[in-house]
Parts: sequence; structure tokens; C-alpha cells
Amino acid sequence: MVDITYSSTRGADEKLKASEAILNGLASDGGLYVPDHVPALDRSLKELAGMDYKGVAYEVMKLLLTDFTEEELRGCIAAAYDDKFDTEEIAPLAEACDAYFLELYHGATIAFKDMALSILPHLMTTAARKNNVKNEIVILTATSGDTGKAALAGFASVPGTRIIVFYPKDGVSPIQKQQMVTQQGDNTFVVGINGNFDNAQTGVKKLFSDKELAEWMNENGMQFSSANSINIGRLVPQIVYYVYAYTRLMKEERIAEGAPINVVVPTGNFGNILAAYYAKEMGLPIAKLICASNENKVLYDFFSTGTYDRNREFILTSSPSMDILISSNLERLIYHICDNDAGKCRTLMELLTRTGRYDITDAMRAKLDSFVGGTCDEETTLATIKNIFESCGYLIDTHTAVAAGVYKSYRSKTGDRTPTVIASTASPYKFTGSVLSAIDPGYSSDDDFDKADRLYELSKVPIPKAVSEIRTAPIVHKTICEVDDMEKTVKGFLK
Ligand SMILES: *Cc1c(COP(=O)(O)O)cnc(C)c1O
Repeated sequence: MVDITYSSTRGADEKLKASEAILNGLASDGGLYVPDHVPALDRSLKELAGMDYKGVAYEVMKLLLTDFTEEELRGCIAAAYDDKFDTEEIAPLAEACDAYFLELYHGATIAFKDMALSILPHLMTTAARKNNVKNEIVILTATSGDTGKAALAGFASVPGTRIIVFYPKDGVSPIQKQQMVTQQGDNTFVVGINGNFDNAQTGVKKLFSDKELAEWMNENGMQFSSANSINIGRLVPQIVYYVYAYTRLMKEERIAEGAPINVVVPTGNFGNILAAYYAKEMGLPIAKLICASNENKVLYDFFSTGTYDRNREFILTSSPSMDILISSNLERLIYHICDNDAGKCRTLMELLTRTGRYDITDAMRAKLDSFVGGTCDEETTLATIKNIFESCGYLIDTHTAVAAGVYKSYRSKTGDRTPTVIASTASPYKFTGSVLSAIDPGYSSDDDFDKADRLYELSKVPIPKAVSEIRTAPIVHKTICEVDDMEKTVKGFLK
């Protein structure tokens, strides 16, 4: 197998092994790590169709994480995709209303971030071992709700790691807060701060760049690392489920080997759909990559005009995980469509920082011909949930509904009948309030658990353990701190 090295999207000097890129997270010039080439699948689709999720995961990940041994990689995969998931299929496909919904929400926090965050801790500790890093890895995260819990669930009780999560004390939903403060595991630490998400985020960045703190950590046998979505160790595991979905469709004789499919992805930071793009580049027969945005439609505008422009109003929607104006992972696509020219990519990213916008050339635009942008407003999102529930008996969450709404209008506009996979990114019980208001607008209650009961009554979709168990779970994290005391709080926990 050809070794793959990773370099920054903004400069070609640094050449790292996969394990080093995972440990670093972000390149020192602020760029994202990209592979020097995209390898082709070296197993036939038919062979892959005969494997289970873990088998497919190994065959895909071995091609990109070339410095991991087979034993190491299979070990990481086995530790990640176990009974933390409530189905052995890990990512089942459900057919409803002319589409195949790829359910990526059967993990610990019932959203698709579990697909990557359940394996990242194992990739990271293995990477540390391979690079003779003796220090304990301390993950430091600021969260506005979802990522914090998914990272906590992934790192909880993983030997050689600790995780500290800061959240705005009054800035997350009651269920999100309950999920975090009941987190088990001796190596977890959850702190509410008196401030908003930006304060938490800025505070964490400051701790990351504090040289004295880094020294103190090193003396005590520890070092910081980051679990955010630009880490290559989160991207690579996301390629797996597209290959898996395709081969399940083959296995169930819905498609012939080699036949094209379309993929629709509800998009925020551009990580999930970028993984589908890599799957296509590796040889998976994907025709169209349909990028679905909510009312924060920066990406839709980008694909229709070639201009990326974040200078606009930020809109709060019922699909909050897609309320994003800077899609960080798009930088990797930009790098690839300017022929892996880090200098050009850096220029555009600097423009984005300075002016909030950039234009791509016609030659770059021509390389985006497999992408289709779409957008779905709030009203259509809720109508889509209602329509799919009433006409097909299938319940989806608000994020998935944005994708389903975009797909419906794409299909009627183009007449394209290619079999289509929609990435279903959260359980309807993760966004119970909005989902219930779509199918039972007359119901009202202040209590999210009552709403979950009502949703069960109507849909008979079982309430996931992630929701039922926090109802009565004991609160174990009670620390609250001021923004200025974050360092002291961190040191107190690490001692
Ligand atoms: C994070 C998230 C998304 C967006 O995924 P990106 O990789 O950031 O584009 C969509 N839906 C849900 C439920 C999410 O949690």
C-alpha cells in the first residue's frame, strides 16, 4: 500500500503521517490537514457488500490512515462500534417516500457526530502511543450544546485521556444541559460558565495558546488536544458509512454493482458532505452530491454563484446544528478544486478572514459539477416532517427534514430518478419540541420529557435510551465558574 502523507491546505512545508495529523488537529499555519492524494478503494463493491460495518470501516480507513497497523486499526474500530450503538447494523437504511434514509443516529448521543466521536478517542490514544507521546491527552472543548455531549460520551472512561467541557450556563437547552451534567466517567469534567458561548470559546482558545499552562501540563505528564470537526480523525470515519450504505443497497438488490446513486446531506460545517465527496473520489459510484442548507444558505449561494459571502444576518432556525456562516471544512474542497495549490487556497482563506468573502474562478467552478446546492425554509422544513410522517409513516428530525425538503424540490425540478440516499443526522427525539410541533401543533407542555412521551404515543418510535436515562440520572457535575477563572478551574481538576 502507498503511504499517505498529510499537509496543510495553506502551506506545503509540513508533511505528516496520519497519526501525527490526528494528534495535532489543526496545522500550525491555521490550515486543515489534507491527504497528498485520494486513494482508490482496493476491494470490489461486491466484496465490501459481504462485510459488516466494522469490516467496511477497516477497508476504507486503512487506505487513508496508512501508518496504523491492521491490529491497531481493527482495535480502534472494535472499541468504537460496539453496544454503545443500539443496533448491530450501526448505520441502518430505511426506505420511505422515494428515498433511502441512512440513519446515523444510533449512537450514544443520538446524532451523527457519534459516528466519528466514538472512534476519535481510540485513534488519538493509539496515535499517541505510536509517536511515543507518554503524556495523558486532555481534550478541552467549548460547546453550544451538541458537540460537548458527543465528545464526553466518546472520551468517557477511555484510558490515557481526560476531557473538560465548558458550556454557557444559561445558553444551552434544558435537555442538553441535563445530558452533560449527568455524564458518568472519572475522567470527565463539565463546567458551566457565567457567560455566553463566545466567552467559553475565546476562553478555551486562550488556554490552548497559554505557554506557561502548557509547561505546567507537561511537568505533570499531560498535554492538550482538540476534538473539533476539522480533525482528520473525524473526517475519515465519516467516509465509511457512504460506502456501507451503497453496499447495503447492492446486498438488498436495490441497485446493481456500479450503478450510480445520489447523496443528500444536511450541511453546516461541511464535514459530512465532504466525507461523501472523498467516498466518490475513492471510486464509490455517486452521481450528485446534494448539499442542503437551512435559511443560513451561504453554501447554496456559493454553489449557485461561485461567491462565498458570510456577510449576512445569522438566522436561528429549528435545525440549530446547521446554523453556521463559516463552513470550516469547505476549505478542504477549495484546496482540491484549485489543484491542491496551497498558496491559492491560503489567499482565498485570508480574504475570507479579512473581508468575509471570496470568489472562485471559472476553472474551479467547473470542478464542482457533481455538487448541487439546495435550501429549505422553516415552513417547508416542518411541512416536510408532517408530510413524510403522514404519507409514509416515517418520522425524521428537523435537520434531516431540510435535506428531504431539498431533495423533493430537486427531484421535481430535474426529474432525476437516480436512487438517492439521504443522510439522516439526528433522532427525532433529539429535537422533540420542533418535531412534535410539526405533527401535533395543538399539543403544549413546558416539559421536554412529556413531549417525548407524546411523540411516542403518536409515532410508536421507541424513545432512545439517551433520552430516557437522563430523566432520572443523578447530577454529577455542579461546577460553575467565571470566565476569568477558567484556568484555575482546569488546574484544579487536573491536579
Ligand atoms: C453537526 C450536524 C449537522 C451538520 O453537519 P456538518 O458536518 O457540520 O455539515 C447536521 N445535522 C446534525 C444533527 C448535526 O449535529
